[in-house]
Amino acid sequence: MSYTHLKERQFYEDIYDRHTVEDARRGMVHYEKFYAELVNEMPEGDTIDMPRNAVVANAFYMQAVGLELLHRYENREQYLTDWMAKDEAKDSRIANARLTEEPYCHHCSKTGLRITDKSLMHRDGKHDDPEEVLFMLRCPHCDKNSAFWENGTAWKVKPTVCPKCQSEVTHKTTRTKKAITTAYTCISCKHIFKDKFNLSEKEEKPDPDFDKDRAHYCLWDKEFREHLFATKKGFEDMAEFGRKRKEKEDNKHIYDAIKEMKKPKIAELTPILTSVLEKAGYIEFHLDKPEMGRDVYIGFSCLDSKSDRDDYESRKTLKKLVDQALEDTNWRLMSDGIYYRLGYLNGRLRAYEREEDLKTLAIKSKKLKPKRQSNETADKKHQWTIKDSKGRDIIL
Ligand SMILES: [Zn+2]
Ligand SMILES: [Zn+2]
Repeated sequence: MSYTHLKERQFYEDIYDRHTVEDARRGMVHYEKFYAELVNEMPEGDTIDMPRNAVVANAFYMQAVGLELLHRYENREQYLTDWMAKDEAKDSRIANARLTEEPYCHHCSKTGLRITDKSLMHRDGKHDDPEEVLFMLRCPHCDKNSAFWENGTAWKVKPTVCPKCQSEVTHKTTRTKKAITTAYTCISCKHIFKDKFNLSEKEEKPDPDFDKDRAHYCLWDKEFREHLFATKKGFEDMAEFGRKRKEKEDNKHIYDAIKEMKKPKIAELTPILTSVLEKAGYIEFHLDKPEMGRDVYIGFSCLDSKSDRDDYESRKTLKKLVDQALEDTNWRLMSDGIYYRLGYLNGRLRAYEREEDLKTLAIKSKKLKPKRQSNETADKKHQWTIKDSKGRDIIL
């Protein structure tokens, strides 16, 4: 019985590496064409070794060849392991497959058929459906073959029909050393068509450079491999730097606002708030001990000295005053609000220190100036871009 899908690891390695070499050779064709053009279009007196030209050539090499080589190198082990596991699973699927019912011979209807082969196939050539196990059986009584799917349904030969009128056809098969040819003739419209099955294996062309190319493109050389990884990292760092710089430029109005924002120390909060609150009749302003965590929180309290102000009015006025007093700073009244009892009020303040948080504050501020228009499209004309490993543009 021959149903072994799983083969020696060497088998998979050879196929994988052959693809790596083929990919790389195709990439090199592009790279060499680009390189020739680059040399051709260099201004008088320029050499390819000049940093400007070298970076462009290098970037194109990485995009055309280098990044793919690194990708295939990094994923090789996992890919081969998964591939072998899939083949092994196919083998065990076939080995464990059992016919659910006693099959009857297609030809003489007797039982006692013997399994001669099992294989995984797509039913009726439907390649989207999962493969199923097909059993091949031989009848000991009439010596003919029958085939059944795992669930007991008989395998049916799909009859060949005329592609023009869907009628039945007759056929005649001729066999040569190289191929088996079947000529079909439609019984209705007499249309003739052929089906050819090649027997001679395509002769593999000798590939004298393969071993050398395999060692090179599969990155067996440590120095070359590390050079490629470092180049990739360099471009990625450059892209990250560029992205950050561009973000700073695009959002200059926000960063300017952050610079202008007041960042009072805890000791400075008391004078800022006391003067405003006392004018409105809130006395004995007092700060609690700050809670120092990832963010800084600080509780505060005061007394309402106005006897005619009720609970709701008192809280609302205090909130408004605190919000206004802190508007230009990186401090905010916490959303949990202000508590009031018998004229004693307390609440909490929070300091924003991280850049992301400060940006959010600046964006929310009513005083934020409009965004400056950049002349991005004009800049783009003279830029080279390559893609990094995450598919983002690296601008050179
Ligand atoms: Zn039979
Ligand atoms: Zn026909």
